[in-house]
Amino acid sequence: MSLSSALDPVRRALSGALLLPGDDDFETARQPWNLAVAQHPAAVASPADVADLRVLVQAARDSGATLAVQPSGHGASGDLAGSVLVRMAAFDALDVDLDAGILTVGSGVRWGAVLAALEGTGWAAPSGTSPVVSVAGYTLGGGHSWFSRTAGLGSDNLRAAWVLRADGAHGRVDDDSDPELMWALRGAGGIVGIVTALEIDLVRAPAVWGAGLTFDVADAVAVIRAVRDLAADAPPTLNVFANSMRMPDAPQLPEEIRGRSFLTVQALSADGAAEELIDRVRRAGSVRREVSGPTSPAVLAAASPEPTEPTPGRGRSMALTALDDSAIAALMDFRERPEQWPIIGIDIRMLGGALDAPRRSGFASLEFVGWLLHALAPVIPGAPSEPGDASLDVFRDLLAPSEAARTVTTFLGPGQTLDRCGTEAEISRLRAVRDEVDPDAVLHEGRLPR
Ligand SMILES: Cc1cc2nc3c(=O)[nH]c(=O)nc-3n(C[C@H](O)[C@H](O)[C@H](O)COP(=O)(O)OP(=O)(O)OC[C@H]3O[C@@H](n4cnc5c(N)ncnc54)[C@H](O)[C@@H]3O)c2cc1C
Repeated sequence: MSLSSALDPVRRALSGALLLPGDDDFETARQPWNLAVAQHPAAVASPADVADLRVLVQAARDSGATLAVQPSGHGASGDLAGSVLVRMAAFDALDVDLDAGILTVGSGVRWGAVLAALEGTGWAAPSGTSPVVSVAGYTLGGGHSWFSRTAGLGSDNLRAAWVLRADGAHGRVDDDSDPELMWALRGAGGIVGIVTALEIDLVRAPAVWGAGLTFDVADAVAVIRAVRDLAADAPPTLNVFANSMRMPDAPQLPEEIRGRSFLTVQALSADGAAEELIDRVRRAGSVRREVSGPTSPAVLAAASPEPTEPTPGRGRSMALTALDDSAIAALMDFRERPEQWPIIGIDIRMLGGALDAPRRSGFASLEFVGWLLHALAPVIPGAPSEPGDASLDVFRDLLAPSEAARTVTTFLGPGQTLDRCGTEAEISRLRAVRDEVDPDAVLHEGRLPR
């Protein structure tokens, strides 16, 4: 019997929906948010509740399919043949305890809804830069946020999770009840259970202050050095990102940025203005444009240039131990080479602070990693992909001498595995947790091939 025929009767047992190939909406439903990734699951399920999830677990067991939970597909990695893709949109509860600073959310909730709920409360979420990423996918994959120097990784703020195990048991897990599972959920969540809700510490941010400085490309080396030097004595409440942009000479772009290269520095302080420190960066070049003053994560998210609709995306991340003068010079020289045009932006995130002293035990860690870089080479429909792929390879090779031993799951690209995120001993520990909670391989193998 084909997998489709085996799964067909499951529809009647669900309160939610199950789409199979040939159904009207199947082709749209199977697409990940990152349209550059091709995935061909055997079915797409939208469970309405935990009872539905239990039906799906049993159906997977009976049919030999695996379950791949994917709220949106921002982090889609490819091959889902033989899997039931599980969308979590119905798990949409959202509760904020403003006295305790604790967020409890269903695993279908996206960060935008949380940011809106926190606006004006004096609390911030340990969320990433995109409001459309799911809280679960981000937190269970580590998650580096605007506030990571202040509050650590997203996963470090995970207090507890409600997990449906492969044996059908569902309940709240925390560090007292199951420390090994919590360790695995903090960074490798997708492979050890189906999370239905999460309990997360919020970040105390009584006076969020931001500065956005734009410099001409001629100042880029000096400004990035100044940002690098700031890391030595910036307090953990100060978070700094730099971004090197090189815009194509495309007629649809505004005149002031079209065909131009520039560098922006964004700083975000959780406890008020950090003028004196930011002045060190200001003085490193001539500021072309500046916006600074009180702000909020919701305002930042609304101003983000990142796409909010499904888009074909392509990029490469590099976690670095250090950003020395020769790496900065090589990076900026690379930015000016005409053949490297496919990379539009390179994001440079300052790490350290709370990241160097994790409060909870978790697989994900950026402890003593200095910098997190991400290069973006947009996929242009109809255009050949080779120049972009080649450019991203050069970017990787250029920074390889400074590459740190680990990164976090949310910064892995399609096809990359968890081996890049932990030591051999940690990967063995992860396999042991998985073998314990999912001995029959009901869950998709994710980024840790069996
Ligand atoms: C525009 C954009 C900006 C981004 N910015 C940042 C950033 O600032 N910082 C950062 O760290 N990352 C960032 N990311 C990466 C993003 O956080 C990851 O791709 C994340 O995994 C996406 O989560 P998702 O649920 O939306 O995606 P999905 O691809 O749907 O899910 C990713 C994985 O999470 C796991 N998962 C999700 N939900 C569950 C669940 N309920 N139970 C078990 N496992 C589950 C699964 O393994 C799944 O494969 C960004 C991505 C985009 C597209």
